[in-house]
Amino acid sequence: MANKVYLSPSDQTANKYAYGNTNEAVACRKIADACEVALKRCGFEVKNNKTDSMQARCNESDKWGADLHVPIHTNAFNKQVTGTRIFCYSKASKGYKAAHAIFDVLAPLTPGTSENVTVNASLYETRYPNAPTAYIEVDFHDVEETAKWIIENVEAIGEAICKGICNYFGRAYVEPVPPVVEKYHVELGEYDTIKEADAMLGGVYARISAVEAAMSEVQNALDELETVLRKAQIVER
Ligand SMILES: [Zn+2]
Repeated sequence: MANKVYLSPSDQTANKYAYGNTNEAVACRKIADACEVALKRCGFEVKNNKTDSMQARCNESDKWGADLHVPIHTNAFNKQVTGTRIFCYSKASKGYKAAHAIFDVLAPLTPGTSENVTVNASLYETRYPNAPTAYIEVDFHDVEETAKWIIENVEAIGEAICKGICNYFGRAYVEPVPPVVEKYHVELGEYDTIKEADAMLGGVYARISAVEAAMSEVQNALDELETVLRKAQIVER
C-alpha cells in the first residue's frame, strides 16, 4: 500500500518576504504544490491542505492515517541568520529520522548555512499529529537574498523535500520527466538523380517545374498581347 504523506504549508500571510512583495503562505503553498506533484510521481498518496486551521489539519491527518506529517514553513529572525531548520517531536520519534532524511537533501540545496535538526515539542504541529512529524523551515525569508532564492526555487525545494521523504521511506525517487517539445524534422538524404530525389518528395519538384513552365508560357503570351496592343494604340484614323 502506498505511504500517505500529509503536507501542511504555512497559512501565515502576515509574514512578509524581504523580497518579491510576497509572503510565507504564498511561497509555502507553491512549495507544497511542487512537492505534491513530486510525491505522487514517486507513488505516494498525498494530502496538501492549504486552507484549514492547524487543528483541523492535524485532525484530518489523523483520520486519514497519515504515515508522515510535514508542515512547510519559511523562517525569520534578525535579517541576518539563514539556513534550513527542521523540527521534530523527540529524538526517539520516527519524526527525527524523517527530519534528518529531509534535512540531508534540503540543507545542501538552500543557500543558508546555520542549519540543524532540533527537537521542538512546543509546536502544535509537532505535538498533536499521530503521524511522525518533520516540521520544515526551508530557510529565512527576512533576508532579501534568501527570500529571492526561495521564490525562484519553489520547484527545486519541493523536489528536494520529496527526495528526502523517499529516502525516509526507502522508496526510489523518480526524476521528473522533461516536458515534450514538439519538433518537425525532415530527413532529405542524398540521391544520384533528380528523379530519385523527387520521388522521395512525392514528385513536388516535377510539379513545381511544370507550373514554372506554364507560367513562363503565360508570360510570353502576355508579352505578345502587350506588343499587339501598343501597336494598336498608335494607329490613327
Ligand atoms: Zn511559519
